[in-house]
Parts: sequence; structure tokens; C-alpha cells
Amino acid sequence: MLFSRFSEYLNQMTETSKRLELKSILSSLFLESGSDIKKTVYLIQGKIAPDYEGKEIGLADKTILEILSEISGIDKDEITKKLAKVGDIGTVAYEIKAKSSQQMLFQEDITIEDVFGTLKSISEKKGGGSTRIKRDLMKRLLLSGSPDDAKYIVRIALGKLRLGVADSTILQGLIEAFNFVDLSEDVENYYNFSPDLGNLSEILKKDDRDEIRNFGPRTFVPFKVMLAERMQGIPSILEKMGGEVAFEYKYDGLRAQVHIRDGKIKIFSRGNEETTSQFPDVVEAMKRQVLIKDGIVDGELVPYNPETEEIYPFQEVSRRRGRKKDLLNIADEIPITLFLFDIVYLNGRDLSRKGYSERRRNLEEAIQPTEKIKLARRIISSDASELEAFFELSIENGCEGIVAKSLSEESIYRAGARGWNWIKYKRDYQSLVNDTFDLVVVGAFWGHGRRGKTYGALLLASFNPDKGVYETFCKLGTGFTDEVLFSLPRIFSDLIVQGEPNNVDAALKPDVWIYPEKVMEVKGAEITVSPVHTCNKGLIEKGMGLALRFPRFTGRWRDDKKPESSTNSEEILEIYKNQKKGL
Ligand code: AMP
Repeated sequence: MLFSRFSEYLNQMTETSKRLELKSILSSLFLESGSDIKKTVYLIQGKIAPDYEGKEIGLADKTILEILSEISGIDKDEITKKLAKVGDIGTVAYEIKAKSSQQMLFQEDITIEDVFGTLKSISEKKGGGSTRIKRDLMKRLLLSGSPDDAKYIVRIALGKLRLGVADSTILQGLIEAFNFVDLSEDVENYYNFSPDLGNLSEILKKDDRDEIRNFGPRTFVPFKVMLAERMQGIPSILEKMGGEVAFEYKYDGLRAQVHIRDGKIKIFSRGNEETTSQFPDVVEAMKRQVLIKDGIVDGELVPYNPETEEIYPFQEVSRRRGRKKDLLNIADEIPITLFLFDIVYLNGRDLSRKGYSERRRNLEEAIQPTEKIKLARRIISSDASELEAFFELSIENGCEGIVAKSLSEESIYRAGARGWNWIKYKRDYQSLVNDTFDLVVVGAFWGHGRRGKTYGALLLASFNPDKGVYETFCKLGTGFTDEVLFSLPRIFSDLIVQGEPNNVDAALKPDVWIYPEKVMEVKGAEITVSPVHTCNKGLIEKGMGLALRFPRFTGRWRDDKKPESSTNSEEILEIYKNQKKGL
């Protein structure tokens, strides 16, 4: 397929934020892309491979500016000035190509294959002389193609395509294009166990229905972990789960899915990023788990002192995350233990479709607990006071509370889903004043006085999965240390966009729009109805949304959470209703 057709589709997509329209544009694009389907899907996502492969194109803004200067003959400083004014390098590339006299001489058609192949080669070039080669490859692409092509190629190459199309919308587009509406639940299940839309698109195109129906977890393919609903009070949990329940400690650390095959171990985070190299001590301990030949377990990495059995605050693990050097020393400094609570796959058997009790039994049989690998502590009971005592004990032992797990046979492991088979109950929920939310930054307001050179407040939003948009929920201006406060413009500099992003629904207009990517943990006093925020707008009262009063940053950036899996609008509505009931 010609890349110029692809650019036309992208232009259409940037003109709408309506999910249904996006879905049908995507569906036509997928049908038209023919054998380029996989590449098309990756390019729509602004990448060349699934996230967990960690493939970066690795070009810098500076290189693109130099290339634009070379192909147009316009001085680099002039282009830099233009960029400062326009703010988006893709638009600058478009304007330069549109005006460039050379364009007429060099312009030739390029295909999806040319662009994808070139970007992939660029990402693979390493070592001496690679900078030159990368640059030449990119130059050739930018010399060819139309102004629109240049706009999108530059944005993709710099990781700034930012179409505002949720992965779930792309998935819906694929389902529609390849007539899988009758199997849409199976397709979603497939995607949740293998969140690689490129790969999935080929299977749908091949109409491989058996593969879709029978798919489950596979070692070394990171999946979307199961999530919990929240609820206040043990009696309501007992009522919801029907009598007897399991309560497990809710450890406050980093979610980890550990894949093991023939002695090789890979650890993936909640956002499917590979973090194996950051936890060498846990990997070593896991290697000694010879009982698992081929399997996947799910748990939480927690700073823990086996001598004193103390659990340390979460911040200790996040200090280790991202530190690449001296890891073995850090392992002594901050001992980490993996607390396992689930198993989804074992020696060829898909356990995800089995109930919780059967999975837990398999986990207990497969794991020999050590200092470094433990099973999540749990109790099974139907007695509210016994469960209450267990909950108190969890807090006393440094946990956040408990996760209640349904003992029903239907309590399967639902990848990527927040369901009532798991219910979290934290100490915080006993007082609404302390409830925490993981919210996404979509804008910022310049400060005054002491905050004159930084942002005075951030505009935060929750994701609405039905509409595929971020809805604003509060303005946040407190809880920052001075260090964080004064670095806010730098922290967000790379995410600034011109104008309201397509996937944001805001009534308040901030001074600076920020593409929704960064997640922050926020505490609030109470949820109220609000005329200025768009969260669940119109669902409680006509023309009104929901807002968080007195929001305060807890100091915790949730870089492990993808924006689409932050606290979503439905959860907020639920909390609001419980709050009204006085729960
Ligand atoms: P939250 O991050 O507040 O949405 O709470 C859910 C998280 O609690 C999960 O994603 C896990 O990382 C963590 N967690 C800790 N202990 C457990 C457990 N026993 N069962 C399930 N999740 C747990």
C-alpha cells in the first residue's frame, strides 16, 4: 500500500475524536492495507514492534532538524526557530516539504513497506558509523514522499505520533474489518494474553478462528495482569462474594509476572516492560525453583527483610527500578522478596481458565517457599470478625490491606480485567479522606509569584474506557516537594502538544496541553459534582461531571502504570455512589 494512502487515513483520524468514526476509519484502512496489515497496525501505534520487545527507533530531534535543513537548503537555526514557534516537528517537516523547491525534483511514491522497513533498519543499526547510516536512511525517506508523509514519518521516528487512538479502538477496528464480531470476547482474551496488535491482526486476517478461541498464556509473552475492584467494608465483600472468601495480604510493591522455561527467567512489569535485569537476586532464587519447567506465576516484588520479617515502604523498590549499575550491591542494600499469589500456566496447561482455588493449589505445589520467594499470606473464612482481625494484621505487618478472592469455580484469571472475583480493601478506604487515585496528566497552568517559572497546577484526568477518552477530574497544585515543583516543566516538556489532544475531553482549558501519558498517585478528600470537570459528565446530573476535592500528590509517580490502566471513570463513579451511600 502507498504510504500516501496511509497518511490520508491519518489525516482523517486526526479530525475526529468519536470512537465509532475512528473505528470505521480504522476498519477501512485495515481492509485496504492487504498484506501490509501487521506493519500498518504497528505504524498506527507509532511503533515498529510490540512494546515488550523494547525496540526504539533512536533518532533525535536534532538529527531530523539537520536532515530537514539539508534537503531544503534552509538554515538550521531558522528551522530551529520555526520549531520553537510551531511546537511540533511534524508540522515543521510538512511546511518545509510543501515549500521546498527540491520537492518537485525528488518526490517519488513510497510504500508502507519502505517506511516500515527503513525505520526498522534504523532501529537495528548499532556501533561505529551507525549514526551516519541512520541519518542517510532517514534522509532518503524524507526526500521521497509528500509533505503529509514527511509529517507522519517524522512523528513516528521520534515517538511522537500521538494520534490519541486507544489500543482498544484499534482492536475494535480489527474485529470489525475481519468479521470477528461473533468472537469478540475471544479476540479480547487473545489480546489480553498477548497484547501485540500487529501479531493479532495477521491472525484475524488469516481468519484463524481456532487459534483465537483456544489461546491462553504463553511463556515469554507478557500479558495484561488481572486487576481488582474496590469495595468498602468486610460485610459488603462477604455479601458480594457469597459467604466464604479468601483474604490475601495486599503487598505494596511492584507487580511482577515471572515467566520460566528450561531454567531461563524473564520478569515483566504490570505495563509489560521487561525488568529482569533489575532483580538479579530474585532471578537467581527463581532459577532454583526447579519444580517449574515451563510456567508463569504472578506476584508482587516487595522490599522485605527476612531476618526481621519486616516489609519496607514501596519507595525502596522504586529506588531500585531504573538503576542499572551496581545491581548486585543494591540487592544487598534493599533485599527484595517476591510474594506470589497466582499461577496462570504450568507445563503446557492453561490454568487461567481454572478457578482461584485450583490455581492456588497448583501454585502451592509448584513453589517451595524460600527467603526470596514466598506465597502471599492468606486466610479462608466466612466469619467477618476473623477476617477483620486478618485485615488488621495485614496493616500491622506493613501491607496496604487485603485482596479478597472469590472461591467460586467461575473465578478464572481474567487477563487485563478489573472484576469482582478480586476485591481490594485498603485501610485508606475506611476514611474517604485518604482514598488514592492514579490519574493522568493532560494539562498544566502556569504559576504565579514564587511559582512564576513553573506550573502552579496540573490538570488531571481519568480514562473512560467506553469512550476511549480522558475526562478531567481535578486540578492538582499541592503535595509537591520544591524539587519536583520546579522541575515540572522539564518533566513534561516532551509531552507538550499544541491544542487539546483528540483523546481528551476537557471543559477547563489549561495554559499548556500535555499528551496523556504520565500517571500520578493522588489523594483526595471527597468526590463532588462539578460544572467544570468532565469525568462521567451527565451521568449523575445534567451537564455536571465529577471532581475530586482537595487533591494532593502523594509523591508517587506511577510509571509502572499505562495511562489506559489508571483509575478509570467507571471506578470513580462507583466510589462516588458508595460515598453517597455512606459506605
Ligand atoms: P491497586 O494498585 O491499588 O489497583 O491494587 C492492585 C494491586 O495490588 C495489584 O495490581 C497487585 O500489584 C497488588 N497486590 C498485592 N498483593 C496482592 C494479592 N495478594 N493479590 C492480588 N494483587 C495484589
